[in-house]
Formats: sequence, C-alpha cells, structure tokens
Amino acid sequence: MSISTFTPPSVQCPECGVQSIVEYKPTVYHCLKCDFEKDLSVPPEADGSGLGSVVMGLAGFGLVLLILL
Ligand SMILES: [Zn+2]
Repeated sequence: MSISTFTPPSVQCPECGVQSIVEYKPTVYHCLKCDFEKDLSVPPEADGSGLGSVVMGLAGFGLVLLILL
C-alpha cells in the first residue's frame, strides 16, 4: 500500500502551481514537483502577538484541506 503518493485534487503548490502537494506528516506538506515544503507546525517567527493570527491562518488552511478531503 502506498501512502506517500496521494494527491488531493484541490491542493495546488504555491510555488509551481502544480497539484502535486502531498502530506507526508500531519503538519508537513511537500511538493513532488519543485520540492516546495511547508511545515505548519513551525511558525516562521516565534515572536510577539502577531504570531497568533499566523498560526490561526495556517490552522484554518489545514482545516480547509481536511474538509476538502
Ligand atoms: Zn511545487
């Protein structure tokens, strides 16, 4: 059984625009085409109050993905 090649139809890579994003960890998305990678569990800046909205945005994005699946 293959678990790494599943490609949700509506998840498009923000880098190359190809729908080749795979989720290989619960919070990590990886593009098979251009090696773009996004780790939703690691905030870009661990600083101050602006962080909350960023985390919430990413969490919302994850929820949207879950709903679409
Ligand atoms: Zn890509």
